[in-house]
Amino acid sequence: MKVQLAQVAGFCMGVRRAMDMALDAARTASKPVYTFGPLIHNPSAIELLERTGVHVLSEIPQKGKGTVIIRAHGIPPETKKRLADAGFFLVDATCPRVVKVQMLARHYSRKGYSCILVGDKGHPEVMGILGYAGEKGILVSCDEDLKTISPAGRYVILAQTTQDRERFSRWSKEIMKRYPGGRVFDTICDSTRRRQDEAARLAKASDLVVVVGGRSSANTKRLAEIVEEKGTACMAVETAEDLDRTRLSRYRKIGVTAGASTPNWVITTVVREIESIRSAKDPLFRQAVYRILRLFHEANLWTALAGAALALAASIMAPGIVSALSAGSIAFCSIFSMHTINRLMDMEHGSYNDPLRARFLKTHKVLFALLSTTALLLAHVLAWKVGNGSFLLLLALATSAVFYRVHILPAGLSIRSLRDLPGSKPLFISVTWGAVAVLVPSREAFPLPDADLVGLFMLASLAVFARSLFMEILDAQGDLIAGWETLTLLVGEKKTLRIIRMASVALAAIALVLTATGIIRHEALAFLLFAAWMYGLSHRMGHKRIRQNLRLEFLVEASFLVLPAAAFLIAILRT
Ligand code: SF4
Repeated sequence: MKVQLAQVAGFCMGVRRAMDMALDAARTASKPVYTFGPLIHNPSAIELLERTGVHVLSEIPQKGKGTVIIRAHGIPPETKKRLADAGFFLVDATCPRVVKVQMLARHYSRKGYSCILVGDKGHPEVMGILGYAGEKGILVSCDEDLKTISPAGRYVILAQTTQDRERFSRWSKEIMKRYPGGRVFDTICDSTRRRQDEAARLAKASDLVVVVGGRSSANTKRLAEIVEEKGTACMAVETAEDLDRTRLSRYRKIGVTAGASTPNWVITTVVREIESIRSAKDPLFRQAVYRILRLFHEANLWTALAGAALALAASIMAPGIVSALSAGSIAFCSIFSMHTINRLMDMEHGSYNDPLRARFLKTHKVLFALLSTTALLLAHVLAWKVGNGSFLLLLALATSAVFYRVHILPAGLSIRSLRDLPGSKPLFISVTWGAVAVLVPSREAFPLPDADLVGLFMLASLAVFARSLFMEILDAQGDLIAGWETLTLLVGEKKTLRIIRMASVALAAIALVLTATGIIRHEALAFLLFAAWMYGLSHRMGHKRIRQNLRLEFLVEASFLVLPAAAFLIAILRT
């Protein structure tokens, strides 16, 4: 089965902004924290907000305290005033594009124009905009309204931001024909346009399109309508539980699109669930490959293999490192155990980034707890065979990795664990992997490592730093929900991708300098290939030519498999 996810799916800018503001308010604003009405039209997102302490306020009380977040759809000005008069502190998360329509309505109604708004009756955004138009506001939500309106004097036509383009254009032309002299402002949001175009394109390229989103979300409903208008089978679901697996198995090409208020973790689960359905038309071999890839991903085996490949490459590059088998085994066992233990300790956070992996680990948690403990012990036995220094270093690294999330300092402080240090995650992972792959398996690393080992440690850590930043981008939504201040959340995705490219250039430059000066062996030039791969991936991701999914994670981890192969090839060429 081929599953294609729309390029524009999930949170739009306005919804993401509102969600970020709500999650931020949950941590920092004066309590209790409310949203006035549901922040967005999606039950999973509302449930999450409830869990983080953001409740829904449906009625405005006489007296209130705490913070009220105004949702992305906005509210009428008099409602805003009533909330402030009741004593609430207001955080305005109205989408800037909705604000623009509100301001147009206010501006023209004040100048005496009638404001005709093409929108859905009763929709919060429509009620908010009409509130700014006051008595001059006229709603057109159906053909019947179109027949009955009679704007007095000058008028403007505005659109609810999520309206259907064709309908808006048709209705505005009809109004202008009957009442010449009006002004039309096409205020349909770009994100809505692109989403609708994508839905139409997907409908043409698929046998069936799954539309993911809340049942009360207007823009999600519209996407389903567009798919059906193109004559393609459509399945509207709120979560993966609504998928009709039997029906889906009859199709070969499945498109997936999602409304602007659908969280990523819901889309990811739906896509992975569909991918796991065996289409009656799919060859068995293809399904088997997919299942193996998924098992490796969910069981953290790709990550462990990437660590082992780095150690293997290091053993070819530095003479002081013990056998390749021993170095690879230490890295595989310790990285597998550290990452698995961390995931087992924080399943809730993981369930927002990768719900299927979290579910897999939850189902087999006893098995994985046993496997990771055994692997950790085995890594220590192997390190002890290398030497006491190796054993102690691995013990220190494993202890800090296991306690990375544990609160060590008392409650009330903003930084209570290693994890709370802003941007610490990629740094911590890169130093740990670098040490496990280069220093732990080396007899020459203690008490003080030689210059070649230090150089190699730097290169390995820098390579892992670039890899960890990719993973941070993939985990951004869960990190935000968990309240972690990761580098990606601090500087944004674009800048993080730029940092990855800078790290790749630095990695290539350091590898060139260290090999040219004879500090490390020429085999370390393999890092040039790695750097080019990382740079290319980051560039493609920046240009949206690659999606943030299982494939990307595989491509990032696979870049480490290139290292020992390239180092080995260079070693052969040199002999
Ligand atoms: S669809 Fe457009 S206008 Fe509406 S919230 Fe999203 S970005 Fe803002």
